[in-house]
Amino acid sequence: MRLAFPVLLSLAGFAAVASAQAPPLLPEKDVAALANELSGETAKQNLEALVQFHRQRGSQGFHSAAELVLERARAYGLADAQILRFPADGKIFYGTQRSRPAWDAEYAELAELRDGAEVGIASYAAEPIVLAEDSESADVTTDLVDVGEGTKDSDYAGKQVKGKIVLVSAQASRVQDLAVGKFGAAGIVSYAQNQKTAWSGENEDLIRWGHLDTFSDNKTFAFMVSLKTARAMQKRLAAGDAIRLHARVKAGQHPGFYEVVTATIPGSDPRLKDEEFAFSCHLDHQKPGANDNASGCATILEVARTLQKLIGDGTLARPARAIRFIFPPEVEGTVTLLNARPELASRIKAVVQMDMVGGGPETKAVFHVTRGPLSLPSFVHEVAWEFANWVNGQTYRYAATGEAEYPLVAPSGGKEPLRAEDAAYSMGSDQDVYQDSSFAIPAIYLNDWPDRYIHTNLDSAANIDPTKLKRAAFIGAASAYFLANDSRLGNATSGAAIASDSGTKAEGEGKLVFARLKEPRGPLAVFGYDYFADHARRAGVPTPKLLGYAGLRGTGDEYAYEALNFTDGKRNAQQIRDAVSAEYGPVPLELVLEYLRALEKIGITKLNP
Ligand SMILES: [Zn+2]
Repeated sequence: MRLAFPVLLSLAGFAAVASAQAPPLLPEKDVAALANELSGETAKQNLEALVQFHRQRGSQGFHSAAELVLERARAYGLADAQILRFPADGKIFYGTQRSRPAWDAEYAELAELRDGAEVGIASYAAEPIVLAEDSESADVTTDLVDVGEGTKDSDYAGKQVKGKIVLVSAQASRVQDLAVGKFGAAGIVSYAQNQKTAWSGENEDLIRWGHLDTFSDNKTFAFMVSLKTARAMQKRLAAGDAIRLHARVKAGQHPGFYEVVTATIPGSDPRLKDEEFAFSCHLDHQKPGANDNASGCATILEVARTLQKLIGDGTLARPARAIRFIFPPEVEGTVTLLNARPELASRIKAVVQMDMVGGGPETKAVFHVTRGPLSLPSFVHEVAWEFANWVNGQTYRYAATGEAEYPLVAPSGGKEPLRAEDAAYSMGSDQDVYQDSSFAIPAIYLNDWPDRYIHTNLDSAANIDPTKLKRAAFIGAASAYFLANDSRLGNATSGAAIASDSGTKAEGEGKLVFARLKEPRGPLAVFGYDYFADHARRAGVPTPKLLGYAGLRGTGDEYAYEALNFTDGKRNAQQIRDAVSAEYGPVPLELVLEYLRALEKIGITKLNP
C-alpha cells in the first residue's frame, strides 16, 4: 500500500522527472562528490571493529562499542561528539519506557557429565550468544527434562522438573514464570526458532539470540543451543537416556546507563539553528550482529565522515540545518533520548534510520526504503525514493551492461543491482518511536528483510557487502543533504485530510472524540517493557480484542499503534476506525472503541469535553 502525494508533484524540485541517467534533486556535482567519497570499505572496516563486541544494552560490550564510535566521530572532525548517559535501574521511567537495568556476564559454561568427565556444550567465552540476556548467576549439576514448548501447564504434566533444567522450544522469557516460578526448575536450555523466513530450520547449526524477561520475579539462567544440539538431546531423552548437566553462570543485572553516542555537523543558517536533520541506527545486539545492526551504525558513521569531509573542504556547501548522528540501544535508547532531551525531540525534523543495510546475497536480503505510517504522511519519503530509484536504475544498468555513470560499487564488494523496494510502513525498530504521535518525526527507514542469519551466531561480517553499504550510505546522505536545505522540512502536514474524507458518518459512540495526553511520551509497547499491558493489569482493564486482531494487512499491534497515533482530539472514533481500516484492512468499530476506552482508563488519553 502506498500513499499518494499529488500536491508535491507540482512543487519545484519534483517537477522535472529525472531523465534516465541524470541524478535527481541535487546538482550533479554534489551527487558525484558523494558517490566518489563514500567508501564501502571504510564502512565495512568500522563494522568489523564493532562486531568484536557483545553489545547488550547497558553492558561493558556496548560501552566499548560506544567508545569506538565516539573515537571515530572525533577523528572525523564532527562537532559536539559525546556519549550521553541516562541512568537505567529498572525503576526510572522515560516516557513509556521503564528503564531496564544494565546486564553483564563474566562467564557461562554448560557441560554434560559423562563417565565422570565434563563434555562442553556451550561456552560464553567462545560465543557469548549462548547465554540468554538477563541470565542470573548459578552453579548447578542436575538432569535435563524435555518439556516441549514449555509455555503451558500441559507441557509439564507428568514431568518432574523441580531442581532440573528444562529443554524448551520457546523463547526463555515465555517459559521462566511457569518452569521456574510455578514448577521450580533450576534453569532453561532453549532452542527457540523465531523470526521465521523461508530458510528457517535449514541450517541446524544456527544458535539464536535468547532473552529472559527483564522484569520477571522468577530470575534464572538460560542457555541457547542449536536445533542440532537440541534434537540430539531430545532423541537421547526419548530413548530413556539421562542427561546430567553442569551449568555455571556468573552474570546479572545491575544499575547502569543507557548510553547514546551523538555528534553533529553544524548548519549554516542562523534562522534554522533550532532545527536538525538526524541519522539513527541501533548500536546494541548480540555478537557478532553484523547486519543487525553494526551495518546501520557503520554506514551512518560513513555518511558522517563523508559529509564532514566534503563540507569541511568546501566541496559541498554547508547545509542550512545541522545534521546529527545518533547511536542508541534499539528503541529503549531512543524513547529515553527523546524523553530525557525534549529539546532534541523538538529540534529533529526528520530522520534517516538504518537498521540492517549491508546484507549480501548469502543473507537473501531484499533492501527496503520504508515509508512512514498513514498517521504521519511526509514528503521526505518521496525524496528518499527518488534517490533510491535512481540508484536502482544506475546499478541495474551497470550490472546488465558493465557501464553506468554511477555504478556505486565498492572495489571489494559485489556488482549486483541494488533493486531497492519502495515499501509501506513496517514496525519493529526505532522508526516506531520517532513516528509515534508524541514526537511525530518522519523517519526514512532503510532496512533489509529477510535475513536468514538475523539474531544468530552467523550474522557475521563475512556476509556483509561493501557495495551495499556504499549504496545505503549514498541514499541516506543524498536524502539528508537535500532535506537539510529544504524549506518544507518541519512543515509536514498532519494526516487529518485522510481521515476526514472518509465516507462513513459517525453515529452513537462513533462520535466520541479522545485526545492523547502530553505525557507519557512514546509508543506503548517498547523494548523489554509493555506500558499498556502493565498499566492495564494494574487498572483491571481486560486485554482489548484489538490487540489480538488479525487484519488483511496488519496485526493487532499495528492497529493499536496507529489507533493511538490518530487519537488527536479532532478525529472521532469512527474516523479513527476508518483510518486504520484504510491502512491495515477493515476492523469493526467496537474493537477500536474498546481500545480507545482502555487507553483512557490507563491515563494515556482523555475523552474530550
Ligand atoms: Zn535486531
